[in-house]
Amino acid sequence: MSSVIAEGLRKVYRSEGVIALDGVSFSITPGEAVAVIGPSGAGKTTLFRILTRTIPLESGRVEIDGVDLYRAGYLFLGSVRRRIGLVYQRHNLVTELSALQNAAMGMIGCCSTWRAIKSLAVGLSGEERRIVEEALGKVGLTGKGEVRASNLSGGEQQRLAIARLLVQNPDLVLADEPVASIDPSSSQRIMEVFKELNEEGKTIICNLHDVELALSYFPRIIAISQGRLVFDGPPSKLTAAVLTEIYRGGREAHADETAEPCICVERLARRGLEQPAN
Ligand code: ADP
Repeated sequence: MSSVIAEGLRKVYRSEGVIALDGVSFSITPGEAVAVIGPSGAGKTTLFRILTRTIPLESGRVEIDGVDLYRAGYLFLGSVRRRIGLVYQRHNLVTELSALQNAAMGMIGCCSTWRAIKSLAVGLSGEERRIVEEALGKVGLTGKGEVRASNLSGGEQQRLAIARLLVQNPDLVLADEPVASIDPSSSQRIMEVFKELNEEGKTIICNLHDVELALSYFPRIIAISQGRLVFDGPPSKLTAAVLTEIYRGGREAHADETAEPCICVERLARRGLEQPAN
């Protein structure tokens, strides 16, 4: 279980002169599950990069489990990062290795690097193999352990990345578009795994393109639009009017574009949260 506090986050990409985040603040208590939504270019990925301190921050503060991320020395930073499980749209698998070996890589995050390397080189102990196979089973990859990752479908590869996350067993899951461009049944399965992880007490923060999934699986929604936090609350408060406001703010809208007066949730979901059209 991890707590996350963001205070007045401001990020400017100076090369482009873009204010990607402008005073974003929120507080997430241990064991919460939060979906981050917003139009393309809103600043969601930038927020995830800041929550892991992978890019510099102009001003503001990120605190994870009481550690001020941008002031922490590398020792503290390393100990915080080991408790974070990251999932990206690109799964970062080693495609030449088997599914089993890829999932076992999750041990790099939860035990010593030496033990993890030894496991890959010499083979997994009985207990390690049980953990990895259980993880593969949870994501629907039972029996695929010996298959090379490159021979798995896109949806299976992403589920394998989730199995690796399960082996890592992090306190906090940060998932940036984990189900973009994969098949609906894999998406559902991944959402179910996140739900189970949350029920076990893990904190989950998930950037989602698909608002329907966000509303179905997450009790709290944070919406970002044009670098600002524009909504923070339960799905029941995310009305069509609020959604229209959120998606009207897309950076990629042309100056003469206007949002439709009312956009229903289902329609936004069907459209994959594109900009409202004229
Ligand atoms: P989202 O994830 O919501 O689509 P991003 O965080 O990727 O949004 O981007 C927010 C804004 O910052 C966009 O205008 C984008 O073009 C810009 N941006 C993102 N990354 C960079 C970068 N490395 N350099 C310059 N501009 C960037």
